[in-house]
Amino acid sequence: MANAVNLYKYSEERGGFVETKAWACGQCGQVADKNYADTYCCVPEEIRNPPSVCTVCGVTGKYFYKGEFCEYCSFDERIKDGKLKLITFEEVPKNLHMPFSDDDDYFEDMESFVESWIDNHSDDPEVRRPKYLTVNKYGENRLDASDIAYSWLEEAYEDAVEDVTKEATAELQKLLDDWCEKQGIVWYEPTSKVIEIDWSIADAKKESA
Ligand SMILES: [Zn+2]
Ligand SMILES: [Zn+2]
Repeated sequence: MANAVNLYKYSEERGGFVETKAWACGQCGQVADKNYADTYCCVPEEIRNPPSVCTVCGVTGKYFYKGEFCEYCSFDERIKDGKLKLITFEEVPKNLHMPFSDDDDYFEDMESFVESWIDNHSDDPEVRRPKYLTVNKYGENRLDASDIAYSWLEEAYEDAVEDVTKEATAELQKLLDDWCEKQGIVWYEPTSKVIEIDWSIADAKKESA
């Protein structure tokens, strides 16, 4: 709750202190704008940021998508909203590696994901099977020559970086690209593409077991 208070503020224009109206937090007395005092300062977290209820499955939590969808249920909404693009297994482009990520693990294909998920969660019936996986792409495997020249010369004389010619930058870029390729280190970055998990693989395994 904000309380109105009077403050004396120095006014350049009037050459002296003038009384002004201000607001202070009703709890701690900190002077603030009314909105801050009313809704933020000393307001408990549960009131300031109340938990949401998922309109699909009913779980409670925080930072839901649009305040309505839990992480689990948000995928369909995000696809509907065009924030995620649903692709089919056949569509996974060549330049995308096939890993599917779950808990920062990467999987070569759908089967290895399903197997690993079953191994890790079979004893916990509470855990819901995810419906989608993110499709990852190769991380940008490049050190940027102009970035490097820039950080090298940042502390040098003014505009030193302008003395590095286009040709010199291209030469360094070639060295860097060759070096990076030689290391053979690859990492993945998530894209906004998702693929539906084929859980029939798991059920088929159960039947054959
Ligand atoms: Zn306060
Ligand atoms: Zn939900």
